[in-house]
Amino acid sequence: MTPRIPPTQLFIDGQWRNASADRRLPVVDPATENMIAEVADASVQDGLDAVAAASRAAPAFAKLPGRERAEMLRRCFELMMRDKEYLAELISYENGKSLADARGEVAYAAEFFRWFSEEAVRLNGQFGTAPGGANRILVQYQPIGVSVLITPWNFPAAMATRKIAPALAAGCTCVLKPASETPLTAFAMAAIMAEAGVPAGVVNIVTTSEPGPVIDAMLADARVRKLSFTGSTPVGRNLLRSAAGQVISCSMELGGNAPFVVFDDADIDAAIEGAMIAKMRNGGEACTAANRFYVQRGVYEAFAAKLAQRMGAIKVGNGLDAATGCGPLITTKAVNKVSDLVDDAVARGARVLAGGKRPEGKGYFYMPTVLADVSRDAKLLGEEIFGPVAPLVVFDTEAEAIEMANNTEYGLVAYVYTKDMAKGLRVSEQIESGMVALNRGLVSDPAAPFGGVKQSGLGREGAHEGILEFSEAKYIATSW
Ligand code: NAP
Repeated sequence: MTPRIPPTQLFIDGQWRNASADRRLPVVDPATENMIAEVADASVQDGLDAVAAASRAAPAFAKLPGRERAEMLRRCFELMMRDKEYLAELISYENGKSLADARGEVAYAAEFFRWFSEEAVRLNGQFGTAPGGANRILVQYQPIGVSVLITPWNFPAAMATRKIAPALAAGCTCVLKPASETPLTAFAMAAIMAEAGVPAGVVNIVTTSEPGPVIDAMLADARVRKLSFTGSTPVGRNLLRSAAGQVISCSMELGGNAPFVVFDDADIDAAIEGAMIAKMRNGGEACTAANRFYVQRGVYEAFAAKLAQRMGAIKVGNGLDAATGCGPLITTKAVNKVSDLVDDAVARGARVLAGGKRPEGKGYFYMPTVLADVSRDAKLLGEEIFGPVAPLVVFDTEAEAIEMANNTEYGLVAYVYTKDMAKGLRVSEQIESGMVALNRGLVSDPAAPFGGVKQSGLGREGAHEGILEFSEAKYIATSW
């Protein structure tokens, strides 16, 4: 049984409508390579129509009391939970991830609506007196304005709610451009938001095969005041350039290259459990995925053997099959990239302890893979693998582990395993990343500030910081 397909038109001003030239864009099931559906393929004009709708809806939405926006977001949470099985199946169908991962994503995605429904009524300003005594300082937070939201395919629901929920909580209207590989989840959520009473024009959804021109036109439009992007660092860099034209505020959640550091004194079984989550959540297609394993010499062989045993036992298959532990990658291009990175590491001397190849047959699959003794110049230590491949490197000293962990232009997340909390905190402070998971395989939590340093991004999503990204501090000086 395959899931019901939601509406496939553009969602603009509360209406479903065809793209202006009636163009369509195919959506492919990565497990079978069959076409699932065709969705509207927006032109530049369609994108600008969505901006116009968001702009028209903005004044009334900004004036709504926080409590009303909060209750709207709360209803979105409840409706997502009502439809959780349907949404999980749809995510699995178009993205390929296992149903277990898809269910986890739906719960995570819905939680952003609940969290920001609570934040919508907590956006308090500040009050103070100027140090010289000349005046009082009043600060209030105002919605930043029409927001363009761009999301990747790896978490089609959660990356959207992580932006939409704080935007609406802050009183902003928006245009969402989901990834072309996974537009169906976004459309299903548009229907949910409409049912929850989100007014027409507040959330608009535009899918397109020409993201460059469509987004550039939006960013050149003076009505747009915010860009919130999640995706790769190269695309993010170009968008920052485009946003400079109108000096648009940018929040960027970009690529990662997470180190996973295991010290000799770690609880090895806990480290293996953590490694399985950090590596295999979404089949390795996560910005937070452990990309490089640095293991201290005393536990290196034991860790490698256990990880290889666990990775080799994962059942690879169609994400919609209940028994599947690892679904397909998103595209054939993604499989080729993973395969090339593994081949490069092996050519430089890596030992294949598990996987190391594609399975036979249809679909964009790659076997869960463990590579030991990876050479420090192997390409996969420097780039996002974005697949089910765990490269292992041995280290001797704490300083060496920190030096290798920081040897990257990325800085999203790092994982550290040790039973010595002082060492764990000391190392965590020295690793250049926005987030550290200390003796854990997962950091993502709507109540925590998610984001990176260096070329992993600008700004934070979730927590209280998330709503501030969509707010402007307005300062009023007064005396009495
Ligand atoms: P991507 O190629 O950068 O695409 C992301 C989004 O940008 C898609 O909607 C894409 O549309 C759009 N896009 C592509 N070219 C564009 C352009 N010239 N102008 C405007 N928009 C454009 O990334 P991806 O392959 O979908 O996602 C994987 C990347 O996302 C990885 O690097 C991963 O680390 C990162 N990521 C980061 C986080 C985080 O929180 N830091 C979370 C998840 C993923 P099309 O689909 O139409 O190309």
